[in-house]
Parts: sequence; C-alpha cells; structure tokens
Amino acid sequence: MTSILIVEDEPDIADLLRIFFDEQGWASSHAIDGKRGLDVFRSRDFDLVVLDIGLPGQKNGYDVCREIRAHSDVPVMFLTARDDEVDRVLGLELGADDYVLKPFSGREVVARVKAILRRGRSDEGSRSLHYGEVEIDLGGKRVLVEGAEVELAAKELSLLLALAESKGVALSREQLLDAAWGEGWVGDTRTIDVHVRHLRKKIGDDLPLNTVRGFGYRLG
Ligand code: CA
Repeated sequence: MTSILIVEDEPDIADLLRIFFDEQGWASSHAIDGKRGLDVFRSRDFDLVVLDIGLPGQKNGYDVCREIRAHSDVPVMFLTARDDEVDRVLGLELGADDYVLKPFSGREVVARVKAILRRGRSDEGSRSLHYGEVEIDLGGKRVLVEGAEVELAAKELSLLLALAESKGVALSREQLLDAAWGEGWVGDTRTIDVHVRHLRKKIGDDLPLNTVRGFGYRLG
C-alpha cells in the first residue's frame, strides 16, 4: 500500500490532502511541525513525503528536506505559497521531486503524486514512456492516462507499441502494417490511418503521435 507522510501545520490543508489520498487508497500520516515530521519519518517507511515550507518551530520545510535527503532518496513534494521559492525547492541543494503552489486543488496534488510514484517505479527497471499524463508501459503492454488504463483494440495497441519501440524514428505505413498485423499481411495501408485516428482520440493530446507526410508516423 502506498504510504505518504504529510508535514503541514495548517489542519485544513492536511485534512484535505488526507481525504484525497484516502480516496486513492493511500495511507497517510500527518505531522504538524518539522521535528515531529522527522520523528514520524524515521519510525517507518514512506513512499513519498508532502512537505510544507513554512512550518512552526525550529525546523522549516527546507531543514526537514535536507535531513531526509541525508539518509533517504524518498520522493519529496513541497507545498509552497510563493512562486519565488520554487527554484530553490527544485535546486540541487534540496532536490525535491516536485512542488505544488498553494492554493491548490486536491485533484492536482493527486495527479502529481501519481506521476512521481510512476517515475519512481519506472526507474526500477520496467520500461515506460511518459508524455504528460500519458504513460506507455512497454513491459506491461498497456497505456495509462492519469494512471487509468485506456481500453485499446489489440491492433491499436500493437501499432502504438511498435511506434513506442522505435520512438523518435518515423515508421512507414508498410512497416507499421508488418509490425501490427504480421509480416506478409497484404492490406490497405489506410487501415493504419484509421487506427492512428482512434489512438489519438482515445489517448488524447498528450500523446505525441506525429504524422510524417507521404510516409507514415512517428512517436515523439
Ligand atoms: Ca505552513
């Protein structure tokens, strides 16, 4: 089960986050200042820390992040009220994974947490391509948008996986027919265009499925 530590002194914000995390089936713990946050952090394993910058007591969010980073590379997402804190948060000294500007929506936070957790997993060896909210999971042969699997017809999926395997390189319609339908399949290459149209519609604008005029298609 995904487990998240929230270090935030404003109870309304912490409660909102916990409600949204609950809905995702994530367990969360809450600490109201930096010292307590570090105590809780050391007491068990977390998949992610959501950290407010302005905290009461001796340790602000920056201090907490530095102490966490000294022992752990757990993903850290900052909550910040000010634009001008963002550069520092994401900089080398603190090395946060992401930040959210207050005020924020619960949905936004959930989407960002999911993105961070997916990134962490793909670093561990499974092969995935990420484009905005779209994830193409090559190992699992599936496509997710905002973490939810998109229902694709078998040929649509084969076509997309073929493009993903050669990302950045254009494939001709004939190559795509071979890849998705099997070599020697004799058919109308316009079938490819129809499937591409479906893919674009089902997956949405974050998918960089580009038309290469007079030739075929390229992903990315
Ligand atoms: Ca605060």
